[in-house]
Amino acid sequence: MGLINKISSRYKTVLMFLISSVSIAVLLIVTFYTSIEKIIYDDYYNTLKLKTDILAQLHIDELEQESPPKKSIKELYGPDNPSLFNNREYIIHITPGNTGYLADSLRLPHSFIQQILASGESSHQDDSLQYIGMHFKNKAYDFIVITAAENYFKKHVQSHLQRILVISLLTAVLVAVLISYYLSKNLFKPINKITRKVKEINSVNLHYRLEEEKYNNELNQLINTFNEMLNRIETSFESQNNFISNASHELRTPLTSIIGAADVSLSKPRRPEEYVETLSIILHEAEKLDSKTKALLSLAQTGFNGKVQQFSTVRIDELLWDCISTIQRLYHNCKIQFDTSLLPENSSKLQVTGNQQLLHLAFTNIIINGCKYSNNQLVKVSVGATNTQVIIIVQDFGIGIPDQELRYIFDPFYRASNTKKFEGYGIGLPLTRNILKMHNGKITINTTENKGTTVEVHLPIKRF
Ligand code: ADP
Repeated sequence: MGLINKISSRYKTVLMFLISSVSIAVLLIVTFYTSIEKIIYDDYYNTLKLKTDILAQLHIDELEQESPPKKSIKELYGPDNPSLFNNREYIIHITPGNTGYLADSLRLPHSFIQQILASGESSHQDDSLQYIGMHFKNKAYDFIVITAAENYFKKHVQSHLQRILVISLLTAVLVAVLISYYLSKNLFKPINKITRKVKEINSVNLHYRLEEEKYNNELNQLINTFNEMLNRIETSFESQNNFISNASHELRTPLTSIIGAADVSLSKPRRPEEYVETLSIILHEAEKLDSKTKALLSLAQTGFNGKVQQFSTVRIDELLWDCISTIQRLYHNCKIQFDTSLLPENSSKLQVTGNQQLLHLAFTNIIINGCKYSNNQLVKVSVGATNTQVIIIVQDFGIGIPDQELRYIFDPFYRASNTKKFEGYGIGLPLTRNILKMHNGKITINTTENKGTTVEVHLPIKRF
């Protein structure tokens, strides 16, 4: 067992192929040989039996016409049946006590004669001849007929057939060895190639991808899966790098303003109004810093799988109305249309189990983004439901997100390159995604730069 485990799968596969193909060849050859032997033997046996029967009938006719022959053994030779070679026939009259003598004089085993007498028919085989004996008895006669002929299969067919089959077996083994050798060279070649290539991949060349193999679907599936995994690893690797640089940038900007303002005002004595101005700049920047760290904190808290939050039944349509009115109170220019045409008739399909405040925060983020990045053009909010999910769609016709940047949009502090003119921290979407994850929901974004963005949220409906 230990040795088998040490053999590489390449040799194991080749060995398995070799063993199974040779076993199949041996099995086929043995089956073929035994069936041929049986067919020839049966045919031969039936011919002998027929001949024995005919002889007996002829002899009975003879007996019924004349007086019984004086000789106790009537022996005939002759190739009168072309399929029986070197054949002999004996008609033996049975008298009490002569069976042993008869067996000895014919050089046949006593048991053979006894068996014929006991069961009416028996067969026997010696080195060169095949015997069949049959017993015929009534009031007028009591005799056995024994016919014998050369075992044709043994003498003429067996050795020839064996030679052919041994040659076939050797040829099959040779072919199996050649195919195994070819397989061992070629079957694992692409896998070895992949192994070599994968070994080359590390954190500095995460962009490497494996090339597809020609005519190898299974392997290509593996290659594609591996490449997709590399895509995900590369994105999350870049996200982590982005997070550190984005976070330090976001926290440093207000700090730099605070330090700069304080530095300037301390450089020489100033008038009271100037100190007030500097302090208000510092306050403003400190407030920014505060809201950024608060946002970071809530992001970190929502990362804790929701065990601490209170969950209750939330009606999504009511929640969205609530979000819309909050937003319109804060941002008067925001135009939001709630499309109710897809609302299900059965309102229980709009119920989810969740935390009201967190879900409120998540949907407010999405809708505010729609208003903000479309310069307050109309934002459409629609709600629909399947038997298992509530689907919320928020559509805007704003600046969209550049294709290449969409995959980073959920990274904390990441802001797309086309958002320079808009205020923001890049915390809203990662927070929203964490909140939806806590509710076993899913968020997907479809966007075209300069055309607009559609955010689709799926939440599982409450089970009753
Ligand atoms: P913020 O809006 O404060 O920058 P978010 O986390 O809410 O942060 O969004 C992250 C980034 O995703 C935004 O900076 C913006 O590039 C992009 N984004 C989100 N929603 C939209 C939208 N509706 N239209 C265009 N860009 C969007």
